[in-house]
Amino acid sequence: MSRLIVVSNRVPVPEKGKAAPAGGLAVALQAALKERGGIWMGWSGKSSGEEETPQIKTIIDGKITYALTDLTDRDVEEYYHGFANRVLWPTFHYRIDLAEYGRKEMSGYFRVNRFFAQRLAPLLKPDDVIWVQDYHLIPLASELRKMGIKNRIGFFLHIPLPPADVLLAMPVYDQIIEGLAQYDLVGFQTDYDLANFVGALVREGIGETLEDGYFKSHNRIFKTGAYPISIETAAFAAYAKRAVNNAMVKKAASSIIGHDLVIGVDRLDYSKGIPQRLDAYERFILANPAYQGNVSYLQVTPKSRSEVPEYEAMQRQLAEQAGRVNGELGTVDWVPIRYMTRSVARPILAGLYRLAKVGLVTPMRDGMNLVAKEYIAAQDPDDPGVLILSRFAGAARELKSALLVNPYDTEGVANAIARALSMPLEERKERWQKMMDHLLVHDVTEWCNNFMDDLTHVPQEGDHAA
Ligand code: UDP
Repeated sequence: MSRLIVVSNRVPVPEKGKAAPAGGLAVALQAALKERGGIWMGWSGKSSGEEETPQIKTIIDGKITYALTDLTDRDVEEYYHGFANRVLWPTFHYRIDLAEYGRKEMSGYFRVNRFFAQRLAPLLKPDDVIWVQDYHLIPLASELRKMGIKNRIGFFLHIPLPPADVLLAMPVYDQIIEGLAQYDLVGFQTDYDLANFVGALVREGIGETLEDGYFKSHNRIFKTGAYPISIETAAFAAYAKRAVNNAMVKKAASSIIGHDLVIGVDRLDYSKGIPQRLDAYERFILANPAYQGNVSYLQVTPKSRSEVPEYEAMQRQLAEQAGRVNGELGTVDWVPIRYMTRSVARPILAGLYRLAKVGLVTPMRDGMNLVAKEYIAAQDPDDPGVLILSRFAGAARELKSALLVNPYDTEGVANAIARALSMPLEERKERWQKMMDHLLVHDVTEWCNNFMDDLTHVPQEGDHAA
C-alpha cells in the first residue's frame, strides 16, 4: 500500500498528556496515516521573525511523521492573514464586499505555496499519494507539478465554493481554477459546491465535462466529486453520555433546572450569522412572553482571527448586542442570553449539547458545519432535542429532518425556535433518529475512506485515452 502524505496549513501534532481529544478530521486522517504510514506536513504555527525559515522539523510518532515548517512574519501576514483569510475566506463564503485584494498578499500566497512544495518535494517517494487540505494550499499541486512531481495528488475544499459570478470577482480567480485543475481529484463538501465549480469552468469556456465526475481543463483530465465531511459519530455520542458526570456540565445542568436550554456554538466569524441569530432569539422572546424566565440561550463563541480587523469589530458588536438584549429583556432572576467567548473542550461541549433542547445552527454560509452533526450525535435517544439548521450550511444537504431555516428571515427563525421548544416527543424522536442513523453510517471515517478510494483509483496522466 502506498504511503499517504497529508498537507494542511496547520498540523494537529498530538500533545502528550493532553486530555482533550483531537477533532474528527485529525482523528480520521491520523487513522489513515497510521494504516498506510506517511507524513503530515504543514506550518508549525510559529513565525521565524524576519529570518529565512529554518529547515523542516520532524516529529515521529509510530508510522506517522509530522513535518513542520516555520514561516517568516511576512509570509504569515501575506499568505495567511492576507490572502487566505482576507480574500479567499470571504469570497468563498459569498462575501465579496469584505474581500481586500492586494497584489502583495496575492503574490505572498503563491510564494508560500511554492515554498511548501520545495520543502515537501525532497520527502516524497514516487508512489506516495498526496492529499492536500483546504483553501490555504490550492496552488500546491501546480507548484509540485512544475517541479516534475507526478504523484497522485488530491485536494479537498472544506469551505463552500461560490457561483461563478462571485468567484470571478476575485482578481486571480483564473490561477485558482487552474491550480485546482492540477490535482487528480478535487473534492467539495456538497453537490452544490461541485455544481458551482463546474459552472465556473463552463461559463469561462475553460473546461469540458466528461463522464463520472471527470473533467477536462488546462490540458489535464481530473476527477471531481462531493465528499461531505462528518464527525466520529459513535465516539461523540459516547462522550456526550459520559459528560453528565463532568463538573462543568453538572453546573450547567443545575443552573437550568426548570428552564429549557437553547445552544449556539460557533467560532467568532461573520459567516456564522450570530448577530442575526441573537435578533431572532430576541424576536422569539418578544413574540412568546410565556418563555420569559423559562428559557436560557447559551452562545459559546470563542474568538478567532483577531488579527483581521472585521473580527475584532465583530467581537465588540456581539458583546454589545448580547448586553443590550439582556438589559432590555432580563429580570432580577433571569438572563436571556449567556454569552461566552472562552472556548470549551469538545467532551464538555458534548455534554452541553445533550442538555440543550434546541441546537441553533444558523450560518449565513458554511462549508459543512460540524456543530450541527455533533449536536445530533450528542442527544439522548429517549428525549432528543431539536436541531434548527440554516439551509445555507452544507450539513443541510444531509440533515433534512432538522427544522431548516433561512437565516436572513428573522421571523422565520424566531418561529422555528418556538416550534422546536414545543415539539412533541414522538416527532422529536422521529426526526432525530433519521439524522442519527445517517450520521452513524456517514461518519468521518467513511468520508476519509471514500476520498482515499477515489484518489487511489483515478487514472493518472497518461492513463487517459484522451
Ligand atoms: N469547538 C470546540 N470548542 C468551542 C467551539 C467549537 O471544540 O468552544 C469545535 C466544535 O466542536 C466543532 C468545531 O470546533 O468540532 C467547529 O467546526 P465547524 O465545522 O462547526 O465550524 P468551523 O469553525 O470549522 O468553521
